[in-house]
Formats: sequence, structure tokens, C-alpha cells
Amino acid sequence: MSENCIFCKIANGEIPSQFVYESKNTVVFNDINPQAPTHLLVVPKAHVESLRELSDPALMAELLESVKAAAEKLGIKDYRTVINTGRGAGQEVFHLHIHVMAGREFGWPAG
Ligand code: 5GP
Ligand code: ZN
Repeated sequence: MSENCIFCKIANGEIPSQFVYESKNTVVFNDINPQAPTHLLVVPKAHVESLRELSDPALMAELLESVKAAAEKLGIKDYRTVINTGRGAGQEVFHLHIHVMAGREFGWPAG
């Protein structure tokens, strides 16, 4: 738990939130400012600043398992996953999260 970290507060229940999915070490909730009809955030319960600081292979696996489980739970087959790592890549919340977006067309290459 890192003080003043919004995703720590959400993941640990300090800010009451509805979880789309929850596993032992991860939670999945809706993005407050969705960029697609479905826009989920898959987040470790423990504070990890970014993908750079993630070193536990079991947690890496659990995060991707939660992406899949949440998508399956919502009946989403096609989705875009994004991890912004560092300010230069667009990271604004420094608690690791995987964006999962669905329900519209996605261009590729991404801008
Ligand atoms: P980043 O730019 O760090 O990859 O993404 C941060 C995401 O967190 C943004 O999509 C933003 O809308 C979302 N976000 C920021 N604050 C909150 C919040 O308090 N609650 C929720 N549910 N999402 C948030
Ligand atoms: Zn945190």
C-alpha cells in the first residue's frame, strides 16, 4: 500500500468500487474516463509503480489471467490491451495497470 496512490486505495477497498473481476492478487474495474465502450483496468493489489518494477513472474501471469477472465466474464472476444510504462509513454497513474478496451474499431499501427 502506497500512500496517496489512487489505485492502491481502489484495490484495497479504501475507496469503495465495483470490481468487474477479482483474483487473489489483482482487481479489475472500469476506467473513470473510458476510451472505448468497454474500458477496464487490470491492477495488482500490491503497489508496483510500472511494468519496469514488476519482477514476480507469478504476478505477471496472474495479471494476464485476470485480463482473460474479465473479458470472458463480460463476453468480450476482441479487445485491445495497453500498458503505458513511464511518462514518455503516456503513463499518468504510477501504479501498474493493464488497459483492456473493447467495443469499437481499433487502428493499427497504433498512434
Ligand atoms: P495511464 O495514462 O496511466 O496509462 O492510465 C491511467 C488511467 O487511469 C486513465 O485511463 C484514467 O482515466 C484512469 N483513472 C485515473 N484516475 C482514476 C480513478 O480514480 N478511477 C478510475 N476508475 N480510473 C482512473
Ligand atoms: Zn498503488
